[in-house]
Amino acid sequence: MRLDQFLTRSAGLSRKQAKIAIRGGRVTMAGQRWKKTATHVDANARITLDGEPQALPGHRYLMIHKPEGVVSATTDSEHPTVLDLLPAADCADLRIVGRLDRNTTGLLLLSTDGQWSHRVMSPRFHCPKTYHVTVADPLDNAALQTLRDGVLLHGEKAPSVPASVEPVAESQLRLTITEGRYHQVKRMLAAVGHRVVALHRERIGDLALDPGMAPGDHRALSDEEVHRLA
Ligand code: URA
Repeated sequence: MRLDQFLTRSAGLSRKQAKIAIRGGRVTMAGQRWKKTATHVDANARITLDGEPQALPGHRYLMIHKPEGVVSATTDSEHPTVLDLLPAADCADLRIVGRLDRNTTGLLLLSTDGQWSHRVMSPRFHCPKTYHVTVADPLDNAALQTLRDGVLLHGEKAPSVPASVEPVAESQLRLTITEGRYHQVKRMLAAVGHRVVALHRERIGDLALDPGMAPGDHRALSDEEVHRLA
């Protein structure tokens, strides 16, 4: 989509007004001022008009407190999916933003906005994800430090990037990672000799799971929360 077309939809401008705004230097894309009206809008770009983040209208953004036993998928032949937790009318076009394993609980985002979802989850944007991790046996300082520094995951060539690690109890830690490799948290812990027995995502970027939400609950994100994340 062209930049002027995007603005007609995001800000309700006429094509002529959008072109004037772009040529007048009021529009930024990925932090740069853009003056070419026909610029192709990159799927990952963050666009502002007069400093206000722009999103295509009509998109829906939800947080859900994922319970255990539910899969992060839109369909599954064996298990209930997170979409089964929502009223059917709310589900159209919703996509999951960063999956959680079936036995992982906590913050899961869903949206119809593919560009936003990509910015939140793509490793290129380094959006931190914070997990409360419980392991089977007590953790020592050496294991915590290895997790902080980066650890080689089974079958991979490059170590995980440095992570933030905060011990919570003898066999519990709060781990913040900026990547999203397959089963990353469990594999990081396995690499330092620990088995994860419970995993709960507390936060994505600056957005924490709403403490008022019980497992299975969902709510819409506010505009401020949508813009805060990406
Ligand atoms: N890392 C995992 O191992 N599992 C999850 O569900 C999320 C992150």
